[in-house]
Amino acid sequence: MKNSEILDSTQPIYSIGSAARLLTISVHTIRMYEKAGLIIPHKVEGKNRLYSELDIERLRCIRREINNKKYSISAIQRILSFYPCWIEKQCSDNERSQCSAYQNGTQPCWTYKHIDNICSDIDCYSCSVYRDVECDRIKEKIIKYTSKK
Ligand code: SF4
Repeated sequence: MKNSEILDSTQPIYSIGSAARLLTISVHTIRMYEKAGLIIPHKVEGKNRLYSELDIERLRCIRREINNKKYSISAIQRILSFYPCWIEKQCSDNERSQCSAYQNGTQPCWTYKHIDNICSDIDCYSCSVYRDVECDRIKEKIIKYTSKK
C-alpha cells in the first residue's frame, strides 16, 4: 500500500451527513452531542463541520454507552467533567484557582473558555485529556487518577 493510501485517522473527511449515515443516527443527534461537549468537530468555512475516523469512533463509543448502559447525554457529560485534567496537566494551586473547569466542573474541561491559564494556547482536539478518553473506560481512568492524588 502506498503511503498516500494510508489515511490519517485524524484527518477530517466526513461531513456531518456522512457521519450520521455511517453511524445510522440523525444529524440532529450529532449536533446534540456536540452541543453537550461530548465531541469537538473540525469547523470549516462558515458553520460546516467535518469529522475524522477518530471522531467517528468516539461517536460510536458514545452510542454504545447510551444504548447498552442506558446513560443519558447529560450523564456522559457529567462523567467527562469528573476527569481530573488538572492532575494530568500538573496545574498548580494558582492555576486551579483561575480555571473555570476546576472551579465549576459541571462540564468537560474543553467546553470552558480558558483565558490566561495553562490551557489558553492548547488545541483541545489534540490534547491528551480529550483524545485519550476512551468513552467506555472513563470511570476506570478517573479512579486510576484520583487514587494517585
Ligand atoms: S487543553 Fe483543553 S482538553 Fe486539555 S486540559 Fe485544557 S481544557 Fe482540557
